[in-house]
This record gives sequence, C-alpha cells and structure tokens, in this order.
Amino acid sequence: MAALMLVVIGSLVGLLVGAIAGQAVTGVLAGGLFVVAGIVMRDSWRGQNLMGWLRGPLDEPAPRHAGFWGELSYRTEKALRTREAQARQERDRLAQFLSAIEASPNGVLMLDADDQIDWCNSVAAEHFGLDPERDRRQRVTNLVRSPAFVAHLQAGQYDDAVTFAGPLGRTTLSVLVRPYGEGMKLVLTQDITERERTEAMRRDFVANVSHEIRTPLTVVAGFIETLSTLRLSEPERQRVLALMAQQTDRMQALVGDLLTLAKLEGSPNPAADGWLSMAAVMKRASSDAITLSAGRHPIEVSGGEDAELAGSEPELHSAIANLLHNAVRYTPDGGRIQMRWQWRADGGAELVVIDSGIGIAREHLPRLTERFYRVDGSRSRDTGGTGLGLAIVKHVAHRHGGEIVIQSEPGKGSTFKLQFPAWRLRRRELADKPVAA
Ligand code: ADP
Repeated sequence: MAALMLVVIGSLVGLLVGAIAGQAVTGVLAGGLFVVAGIVMRDSWRGQNLMGWLRGPLDEPAPRHAGFWGELSYRTEKALRTREAQARQERDRLAQFLSAIEASPNGVLMLDADDQIDWCNSVAAEHFGLDPERDRRQRVTNLVRSPAFVAHLQAGQYDDAVTFAGPLGRTTLSVLVRPYGEGMKLVLTQDITERERTEAMRRDFVANVSHEIRTPLTVVAGFIETLSTLRLSEPERQRVLALMAQQTDRMQALVGDLLTLAKLEGSPNPAADGWLSMAAVMKRASSDAITLSAGRHPIEVSGGEDAELAGSEPELHSAIANLLHNAVRYTPDGGRIQMRWQWRADGGAELVVIDSGIGIAREHLPRLTERFYRVDGSRSRDTGGTGLGLAIVKHVAHRHGGEIVIQSEPGKGSTFKLQFPAWRLRRRELADKPVAA
C-alpha cells in the first residue's frame, strides 16, 4: 500500500515537473518509474541483508527493517529462536537423562541394530573393559570377547540373565539384555562378585556345619546300635558311654559356638559406656585356662590393673578364654603361656597371649579366623576344638572397634594380640581404686 502511494506521489511529482517542461506524460512515466526503481532497489537490498544474516552463524539479531522484509526477518528469527530453545531443552533433558543413567550402580550399554555401541555408562565400560568414547560405534562382539556373552547376544533369547567372568577374570558379572525399538538392545550389567562370594560362603558354612554334626552323630548312632545289640561287660559299657559322652560334648561345644557366633552377628555392638575392669576379665579367663591346663603349663598374667574397657563382659571373656584355651591346647606340656596387657602410645592397648607351642606356618595365618579353618583338623578335634574359636575372637574384636593380630613361627610358638582403640579404654589411677578381682 505504502509502495503504491509512493508510486502515485512520484507520478504526481513527475506530472508537475513534466507540465512545466511541457512533457506531462513523460513526466508522469518518469516519476512513476523512478519511484518503482527506488522501491525495487531498496527491497533487493533488504532481501540481500536478510539472506546474509540467514547464511551466517545466526547468533546476531536478525536485520530490523520496516514493511514486508521486516516482518519476514522478524518471523524467521522468532521461528528459529523457538526451535533453538526447544533443541536446547531437549539437549538438557538428554544430558540429565544420561547423567541419571551414569549415576546408576549398574552398567547400561545401548546397542544399535548391528550390535554397535551407541552409548554406555562408565560402570558398563568398566565391567566390559571398554572406553566409552573410543569404542563408540564399534561392534560390541569385537570388543567383549567372553564367549558366554557373545553366544547369549547372538542367540536372541533374552529372557534370563547370563553370568560370566569380567575382563580380567576377577569379577563375576550378571548381564541382562532387553531388546527395544528397531532391533536395538539395552544391555544391563551388574557386578555380582560379592553376592556370589557370600552365597558360596553360606553354602560352605552349611556344608561344614552338617559335616561337623554328622560325624559325632554317626559315632553316637553306632554306639547306640552296639549297646542295643551286643551284650557288653560293665567295663565295656562304661567305655562306650564315655565315648558317647565325648561325642555329645563335641556337638554341644559346636552348637554353643554356633549360637555365640549367631548372637555376635545379630546384635548391635556393645555400648561404649559400660566400663569393665580388664584385670577382672583377665583373671576369670586365666583361671579357666589354669583348670584346662591342669598344671601342665605355667600361665603368667601381667598388667591390666589400671585398664577399663567399655564393652561386653561375656564377649570379652569368650574371646580371651578362646585364645588361652588355644594356647593350652596347642602347647606341649611344660611350654610357657603368658597373658599381658600393654598400653600403646596412641592411648589404645592390646591384650597379648603368647605361647611357646607348636606354632603355625605363615601360609595359614591369613585364614585362621575363617570359620572351620584348621591347620590340623584331627588335633583340633581331639583337643575339643570346633574350628570356630578364632572366628568368635575376630568378631568380638571388631565389635569393640578392635582387631586381632596373629604372629607365629612353627616350632617356636604364637602370639595373638587383641587390639583395642583408645575410645573404648579408660586408664585409672591405681592408688585410688583397687582392682576388683
Ligand atoms: P580350633 O577349635 O580348631 O582350635 P580356632 O578357630 O580356635 O579353632 O583355631 C583355628 C586353628 O588355628 C586351629 O585349628 C589351629 O590349627 C590354629 N591355632 C589356633 N591357636 C593356635 C595356637 N595358639 N597355636 C597353634 N595353632 C593355633
């Protein structure tokens, strides 16, 4: 409309100028054409301007013009900016989504229809030994060599998870494949090494307990059979009954230790404010050991009169008595046994049981506190051992914030240290309070 007005005005001006010169028609035409040419040039300049902006990086604002080109550039820029904002939002959501998957404790691997890696989180990369960036777009079966995984992926039957060893054979992985979209696959991985280990330990434990109980039970059943079918002389009968009692004692000791372990595992740690006199606990345990040794070993006890420990008396008694009983059982007659209380410079302390007994070869030391681990099974059983003693000692130490440390040399003897942290201990003035015994 405005352009038309300009043409009319141009023509009128041309008419006026032409009339003065006596060329009215030429004036109208020239005036009109002049204005049209001006409009065409202006519009082509504006069009070029917009085109230049569109060809550029689009980060500057669009050229501002009046009229048609102005509206065109305004609408173009608006549509563009709306798209950009949408794309940015989508990108942010994708990044958020990926970082949520990245935070997952499980591995997530996305494969395209050709089993090429689209994306994987760092857990999956670690599980499969991949590099999330470098290995993108690589066929996963070229990189993950586990035959179990490759066969599972190629079989196309993904109902169940498959279990296989991780890249260095140190871990066990459980892998679940879920197809999605057009032939794409989501591979979910989980490190089940710890779960497998616990499960194996549970199986071993049940097998061990069954075995430990079945052996004396078979012996007792045999004796019952003997008693009920054979006519035995009184001394023979007494001997059989004594052997039966020995076996039932063994079962009782085993069940007792199992219950102690179950209690230790299933109850909260002892309170940190129930103070016990260590001298009293040590004295009680040593008198048990003196009875067991029946004078075969000198047993020396020293220290602890100034020590108070926050803990459970029955638990500490059980731990110390176990260490002393072992010292008696694994030290030949005449050997020396010592129990000492030693303060450490950091305020902690240790209860040390030293014997001059048979000792333990170095390779057994790390496993001694495992349940049912024995260096010499028959010696342990013959002396009334259950194989659970040191497992109980370790538990008690941990429940009191401490550790058990074992040093030993075959033929020379062993040293067992029950170490306690400073926060469980209190040192008292000997002159103020005599030690309760
Ligand atoms: P056990 O009931 O068999 O003694 P423990 O858990 O108390 O079970 O001890 C585990 C094993 O450690 C024992 O079978 C024994 O071989 C060894 N052991 C423990 N204490 C001593 C010790 N003082 N001297 C030598 N060997 C020991």
